[in-house]
Amino acid sequence: MSFFHLRSPAGTTWPPIPAPEVSQLWAAYQELDRTQWHGRADIEEMQLKQLRVLLEHCSQNVPYYRRLLSDAGLSAAQIDSVAQLSRLPLLTRELYQRHFDELQAQALPPGIVTVGEGWSSGTTGVPVKVVKTNRDSLWWAAFFLRDLEWCGMDPRGRLATIRLFETARDKSRRPSEGTTFPFWTQFCQLLLETGPTHALDIREDPRHQLDWLRRVDPDYLISMPTNLEFLASLLAETGTRLPRLRTIQAVGEMLSAEAQTHIEKGFGVPVKNLYSAVEAGYLASPCPSGHGLHVHAENVLVEVLDDSNRLCVPGQTGRMVLTSLHNFATPLVRYDLLDEVTLASEPCPCGRGLPLWTNIVGRRYPMMELPGGRRKSMVGLVTGVRQAGGCHQFQIVQRAIDHIVVRVVPSRAWQPEHAMRIRQAVQDEVGMPLRIDVEERSFLERPPGGKLNLAVIEMDASST
Ligand SMILES: [Zn+2]
Repeated sequence: MSFFHLRSPAGTTWPPIPAPEVSQLWAAYQELDRTQWHGRADIEEMQLKQLRVLLEHCSQNVPYYRRLLSDAGLSAAQIDSVAQLSRLPLLTRELYQRHFDELQAQALPPGIVTVGEGWSSGTTGVPVKVVKTNRDSLWWAAFFLRDLEWCGMDPRGRLATIRLFETARDKSRRPSEGTTFPFWTQFCQLLLETGPTHALDIREDPRHQLDWLRRVDPDYLISMPTNLEFLASLLAETGTRLPRLRTIQAVGEMLSAEAQTHIEKGFGVPVKNLYSAVEAGYLASPCPSGHGLHVHAENVLVEVLDDSNRLCVPGQTGRMVLTSLHNFATPLVRYDLLDEVTLASEPCPCGRGLPLWTNIVGRRYPMMELPGGRRKSMVGLVTGVRQAGGCHQFQIVQRAIDHIVVRVVPSRAWQPEHAMRIRQAVQDEVGMPLRIDVEERSFLERPPGGKLNLAVIEMDASST
């Protein structure tokens, strides 16, 4: 029996059929339902088949890749292994921005048309523009359905979503009571029986968000991990829960194991981690049997590379680079998102042939510059400050080579000793004397892209 309940057109109840406008979407989703069970080797072979179509298009219509393929002495039709693909250089965000015009396709395959654009904020704060086509939208919607099914999120329920709504930059124009839609998404409404969505902007004070959530009383909640952590902490403080809530989906930022545990404890429901990127759509979603995250291999071909840019072996952690298999308007070949993932050491016991990751380490934390030319990742600081406790939220900022500021949003449990513990944790991690300030805030402002980085470097040129 299907997980979803189709909304059949008038006159038909059984067997259910989709409305004509969404029949292609339903067919795409059904296809994904089959391909997930194919063996690993078959999936890779099919990926390479699609890759050759994409690269053939690139060699004819995309000047940037025409040049790279020619420089590497490769013809699209020859590529029959991932190792051959690796003869093309990586595409970094900087290269993407610099060569944006050359990366645009001069023509599109018949039936594919551009429908708009998306912006990825990224951690650098420099937005990246992506051109979207009708085909991207189709696959985006099909993977949306797969992800809902894997996460057990039934669209007949009530959804609350607390995210960044771009139209609401100006606070006075943001409805503080949120917005209600009678469906989960437009296409859901055509395709499925669906409950309502209640949407609130993530820049609202989390205390207000929690009051709003109590009124909305959702079955499902979607938001960003740093925001969910704050809400979980508020719930834990009052010893209350959201009575109807069944599942939370974390999106838009890295979800660490510590944050996941913290959120699950506060809300008392499981947290599902959706890993996606504006540039390439759905990348990975939680295995329905709980064994890690499966890559949406029909959407992206992912290489996981070690520090020498060699393919990692099972069990190893490395940097992931992706090739978007259906983006023909601005093709992304070997695009470096700067995220790290850990490959599972065994195939998934659930039987799906899609690649399995046990962990997403997320964007690398910034490297602090320390006296004497030392450099050190800020990851240890994040762990240390989290363990110190006493706050709903925190952010660690390196202001100068010998000066670190920790911004905290104190919880009711906050005592002066928490500030001492935080200073000590930073001191221990850095391992040399430096100035450490702990600043109390009522909440932390989100930057324009909406992603709140737990560790950032904000040094003036004069202070380095
Ligand atoms: Zn699995």
